[in-house]
Amino acid sequence: MSQQQRRSSAYRAVSAGVEHLPLRPLWMCRRCGQPWPCGPAKLALVAEYRDSPVSLFLYLAGCLRDAIDDLHRLNPSVTGSASDIFDRFLGWPTRHTDSYRVATAEASRGEGTSS
Ligand SMILES: [Zn+2]
Repeated sequence: MSQQQRRSSAYRAVSAGVEHLPLRPLWMCRRCGQPWPCGPAKLALVAEYRDSPVSLFLYLAGCLRDAIDDLHRLNPSVTGSASDIFDRFLGWPTRHTDSYRVATAEASRGEGTSS
């Protein structure tokens, strides 16, 4: 067995027990290699912050800020698409959490009366 084979099988054994957490500074999932938050990470976050969606947004806002810093440092030309990375971190919970959806519906109703 070569050195490289030994290393990759050791890595597989370790990664099997790893949760779907971000690998910084790349912000890829440590487990499945998808851009973080991946599907399983989103499910875990929604479950973890079930009772406090505001805390979920605060956590993700912190992650977004760190990710912008990290990714900009890695490759300054990539951070041009700010809306994409915003949606990646903060867009998806608005489609998952009921309380945010209610608040948004009320806000848009208020906007409609002003014109
Ligand atoms: Zn993952």
